[in-house]
Amino acid sequence: MNQMQKQQNRWLKAIFPAAFALLLSGSTAADAQELYLPRNIKMAYEKGSRSKDGKPGKNYWQNKGKYDMVISVDPVSKIVTGTETIKYTNHSPDTLHQIAIRFVNNLHKPAAPRANYVNKDFLSDGLTISSLQIDQQQYNVKNENWGTVEELELKKPLNPGQTAELNISWSYPLSKESGREGQLDNSTFFVAYAFPRVSVYDDYYGWDLIPHTDRAEFYNDFNDYRLTVKAPKNFVVWATGDLQNPQEVLQPVFAERLKKSYTSEAITPIANAEEMTKGLVTQQNDWNSWVFTADHITDVTFALSNHYLWDGGSVVVDSKTGRRASAQAAYDAKAIDFPKAVDWTKQALSWFSNNWPGIAYPFSKMTAVQGFADMEYPMMINDSTTPDLEFSQFVLNHEVAHTYFPFYMGTNETRYAHMDEGWATTLEYLISTAQLGKEKADENFKKFRVDRWINDPSAEEDQPVITLSTQVSGAGYGNNAYVKPALAYLALKDMLGDAAFKKYLHAYMERWNGKHPIPWDFFYTINNVSGQNLNWYWNNWFFSNNYIDLAVKQVSNKGLLYQIKLDNVGGFAVPFDIKLKYKDGSTGVFHQTSAVWKANQKSTVIALNAKQTVVEVQVDGGIFMDASPADNIWKGK
Ligand SMILES: [Zn+2]
Repeated sequence: MNQMQKQQNRWLKAIFPAAFALLLSGSTAADAQELYLPRNIKMAYEKGSRSKDGKPGKNYWQNKGKYDMVISVDPVSKIVTGTETIKYTNHSPDTLHQIAIRFVNNLHKPAAPRANYVNKDFLSDGLTISSLQIDQQQYNVKNENWGTVEELELKKPLNPGQTAELNISWSYPLSKESGREGQLDNSTFFVAYAFPRVSVYDDYYGWDLIPHTDRAEFYNDFNDYRLTVKAPKNFVVWATGDLQNPQEVLQPVFAERLKKSYTSEAITPIANAEEMTKGLVTQQNDWNSWVFTADHITDVTFALSNHYLWDGGSVVVDSKTGRRASAQAAYDAKAIDFPKAVDWTKQALSWFSNNWPGIAYPFSKMTAVQGFADMEYPMMINDSTTPDLEFSQFVLNHEVAHTYFPFYMGTNETRYAHMDEGWATTLEYLISTAQLGKEKADENFKKFRVDRWINDPSAEEDQPVITLSTQVSGAGYGNNAYVKPALAYLALKDMLGDAAFKKYLHAYMERWNGKHPIPWDFFYTINNVSGQNLNWYWNNWFFSNNYIDLAVKQVSNKGLLYQIKLDNVGGFAVPFDIKLKYKDGSTGVFHQTSAVWKANQKSTVIALNAKQTVVEVQVDGGIFMDASPADNIWKGK
């Protein structure tokens, strides 16, 4: 409770004793609330892999793979061919009799279930596995029957603590029309989800067998990767991870420019259009092998082109140690916005590191690639180009923000999209506020985010945010993943105050980075570190069909002490401003945090000490847009 609310309570108690008694009795009921736990989640807490204080449980575990891959891309046939060795360790207490293999790009197969209609150019034959061995035993693969995830019966079970070695050879075509991966143009390719991987086996669900349908996103273990990309000469490769052999793949002058960009503040072209088209940039072997490594990371992705421009620069992301991160961009010569991409990336890396979430960017680089996806990958983003520079930067900020959620925090995006999109949307709003000013940031946030939900006539989509992301419709997915959770996090920040909110958020991020948190781990951690039982708040925002709709019911006064009765028709515990217009035309603004809804979530009474006679009362939620703003105003006689 803040000072202003304490003051208001004192007035309330003095002037309206009955209303104050109601407020107090309500708060006991709010404290006693429990959070709904699905049966499988409850079991994880009972087994001690998770803990009700929000920390990873004493029996917490997660499985891990070490991937060594060689992947070739043929720019003529557009076929990706690969071989890999995966050393997969079972850290669970369970003996695994099956293993689930995931290959997201089977999404392109004509018979694959998909969330949306696709064009013919998006379709392909999908994955062909030519060989699959586990611990030297050959497995028979019927490629035509494989979807995006396939469960195999193990010939030899994998016991707790044991490591299995998988050796897989595969190929697949890059679709002509790209989505989150595919052909960007005839000689530029964004190659993501390019290898068969072991799906996640976890403590609350077992094998993750949810098919990928191109709406809900991903869930991967933290693995170690060594990725070798074989590309013909004159193709530059950009990828997740650190390039291990620049001298073997680049001409000396370009290797030197790249190296210089790692320590330089300046934004410099590493290779310009002319150098690329003249074939001056790479070593002139028929095929170059680009080697990248990245450890304890959820995925690796790469792109290649024989004509994209390549910019580089760097920025300090950890002011304590002086550690820098590399910012790179790869784009077509015609793009208007991408020449700014390295500058924008540097701004984003620095701002996120020093402000919100205020944790040093956890990776060594970030590469922005011009494509069509507006999508994040560890250390890479694939963004469309637009002539609207402000909008391009807005999207870039959002995708870079995903570094923290889901890549640093390892959330299950497939089931709980609000754990990543909600935070990326929150961070996107906060950085916009710093870059554009609050007024413009609010305008953009309302226009691109909140309005699309609150004024959507399909109100049946007001499903609880905790609903599995795979179980809501298209618009409902967006509302639950992005808009409502971002508002919940921003209202929490407003209620707790910035310093406390940051401290609690850091506690959650410290406890769960590099692991697999679920929503309850977040809720319980904030309860634990704040010393407050906020279950009333979590229930209100994450487990309800609430929306935003406040109404002014009654305004009464005793002299200059005003009592304003508000109904919460929509139910969400939103913050708002009470704007008073006085007799002489001057105004007063009284901010109320979500705490006013703790005692009674249906209605509340706000007592205010006015400066003079009030002629108009307006309740304004700002970015917390109201479904029916007409009843938010009271006019005096
Ligand atoms: Zn996002």
